[in-house]
Amino acid sequence: MNYDVVIIGSGYGGSVIAARLAGKAKVLLVERGRRHGRGDFPKTLTQLARAYRHTSNPLGLWQLRIGEGVGNGIVSGLGGASLANYGITERPPDSVLDDWALTPRELDPYYQRALSVLAPEPYPRRDELGDAAFLDRVEPGRRVDLRNTIDWTRCTLCGNCVSGCNEGAKRSLDRTYLPLAEAGGVELRCETEVIDCAPLAPKGDASGSGAQQGAGYRLALRPTAGGPLSALTTRQVVLAGGCFGSLDFLARQRSTLPTTPAFGERMSMNGDALFFLYNSGEPLSGEHGAPLSTTARFETPGADGRPRAVTIISGRMPMLIMPLVARAIPVLTPLLPGERSAGATRGFGPLAAAKRLWRQLRDVAKVDATGALASTFMYKLDGQDAARGRARITASGEVVMDWPDYGDDPVLRFGRERLASWAAQVGGRTIDELGRWPLVGRSFGVHPLGGCALGDEPQGAVVDTRLRLFRPDGEVHPGFRVVDASVLPGSLGVPPSLTISALAERAAEDLLGEIG
Ligand SMILES: Cc1cc2nc3c(=O)[nH]c(=O)nc-3n(C[C@H](O)[C@H](O)[C@H](O)COP(=O)(O)OP(=O)(O)OC[C@H]3O[C@@H](n4cnc5c(N)ncnc54)[C@H](O)[C@@H]3O)c2cc1C
Repeated sequence: MNYDVVIIGSGYGGSVIAARLAGKAKVLLVERGRRHGRGDFPKTLTQLARAYRHTSNPLGLWQLRIGEGVGNGIVSGLGGASLANYGITERPPDSVLDDWALTPRELDPYYQRALSVLAPEPYPRRDELGDAAFLDRVEPGRRVDLRNTIDWTRCTLCGNCVSGCNEGAKRSLDRTYLPLAEAGGVELRCETEVIDCAPLAPKGDASGSGAQQGAGYRLALRPTAGGPLSALTTRQVVLAGGCFGSLDFLARQRSTLPTTPAFGERMSMNGDALFFLYNSGEPLSGEHGAPLSTTARFETPGADGRPRAVTIISGRMPMLIMPLVARAIPVLTPLLPGERSAGATRGFGPLAAAKRLWRQLRDVAKVDATGALASTFMYKLDGQDAARGRARITASGEVVMDWPDYGDDPVLRFGRERLASWAAQVGGRTIDELGRWPLVGRSFGVHPLGGCALGDEPQGAVVDTRLRLFRPDGEVHPGFRVVDASVLPGSLGVPPSLTISALAERAAEDLLGEIG
C-alpha cells in the first residue's frame, strides 16, 4: 500500500484533514490547481480573464458552472476557494443546525478547534466605515460585525480578496492549515488531478477483517496540464474536491462507487445573491472600503412557512473591477431591474438630478470619493434558501446545478424588499439581483452546497454523519469519506467555510480513531 490516506482536493475539507493527520499517518494530498505565491494573482481585468480555467487553460484559477436558473463560481488552486474568498468566518445560528442529523452541541468543539487555527478577526476600524453607520441608520440594532481571516494590518482595503490577495493579507488555507500539514510530513502534490478510483479486492483473511474494513483503493492520477497516467494505492480516501469537484468525481465513478438515490439532490446556493444601492448620495464608504465585513441579520418565513436565517452583508466593489463598473453602470442602469427612490429627504427635482449625474460623470473620469460609486453599496445576501437545486451531468461530464425558479426563493424576495425599503429612506437606485438582468437570466453565487447530503439514514442522504459514503444497500464504502461543501445537508444562511472546517475537524478525529 503506497499511502494510509489520500486526500483529493485542498479546500477547507481537505486542508483540515491533512493538518490533523500530519505526523500520524502516511498522507498524500492531491490538488489539481497550482500553488500561488504573494503577488501571483490577477492584477488587471485581462489577467483575470486569462485566469479562467478551461480545457486549454487547465491550471486556471476560477471557473463558472452554469445551470438552469443558477450559475456558480468555483476555484482551483492549493487552498481551494480560500484563495479567492472574503474570508468571512461565521458559525450559523443554532436554528439552522437544529435541522441536521448532528446537533449544535456535537459540533461546537469542532467549531472552536477550527477557529483556533483560522483565527478570524473583526476589522478594527469598523466604526469608521460608512457602511456600518449606514446599517445602524436603516436597520437600528441589527448590525453584526463579521470576522474575516484577514491580517488587517496588511490589508489595503482594495476589496480584491475575490481575485486573490496580492498583499499577503489574507490568511487563506495555504497560510493556516496547509503549513501545519506540510510541517507534519504530509506530501502535497499540486497540478495533479485524481481521475479514477476503484476499490481493491479484499485479500483472503481468516478473521474476515480485511473484507470488513475494506482493502483500500487504487487511484489513477494525471498531471492537470496533460501527461501520462500514474496509479497508487491507499487504505483510505478522503474526497474533498469541493461541491462540484466531488460531484464530478462521484458521477464518473458510479460503477465502482455506487451511491444512494439522494446523490445530486438538495443542492443549495446558500441564498447567495448580489444587489446594489447605486448613487444614493449617502457617504457610504468613500473611495475604499473593507472587504465584506459588516452585516445585518434577519429572519423571514421560508417556502414552508418556517423562519429562515438571512444575512445581508455590505461591502465595496473590488477595486480591480471598479473602473469598468463605474463606466458600465450609468449606461446599463436604465435597462436593469430595480427602481430609483427619492428617499425621505432628497427630491427628484432638477438639482438632485444634476448632482446624481455629476457623480456619475466623475466616475467616468476617475473613481474617487466624490463619484457615484463612493455612494454605492454592494450587498451580498446569504440566506437559508430551500435547497431545491439538483445536479445535472453535462455532455462534457461536468456537473452543474439546475434550479430554474431560484430567483423566487423567499430569501431573495426578502433581500429585494429590504433594499427597496433602505432606498426609500435614503434615496438611490436599487439594482436588482443578477438573475433578473436581461440576457443574464440566472442568479450567480459562490457558495454552492449539497448534493452529497449527510444524514443518519441512507434514505435521503449520501454520506453518514461520519461522512462515510453510503452504498445503495445502506452499508458504507469502507474507507471512503466525502469532506467538503457537498455534504452540507442544507443552506446555512451564513458563509460556509467555518462549518465545512468544523465538519472536517470532526471527520479527522474519527478517521484517526479508525486508522489507529
Ligand atoms: C469569490 C468567493 C467568495 C467567497 N467568500 C466566502 C467567505 O467570505 N466566507 C466563506 O465562508 N465562504 C466564502 N466562499 C465560499 C467558500 O470559500 C467555499 O464554500 C469553500 O472554499 C468550499 O470548501 P471545500 O472544502 O468544499 O473545497 P473548495 O474550496 O471548493 O476546494 C476544492 C479543491 O479541490 C480541488 N479538486 C477538485 N477535484 C479534484 C480532483 N479530482 N483532483 C485534485 N484536486 C481536485 C479543486 O481544484 C479545489 O482547489 C467564497 C467563495 C468564493 C468563490
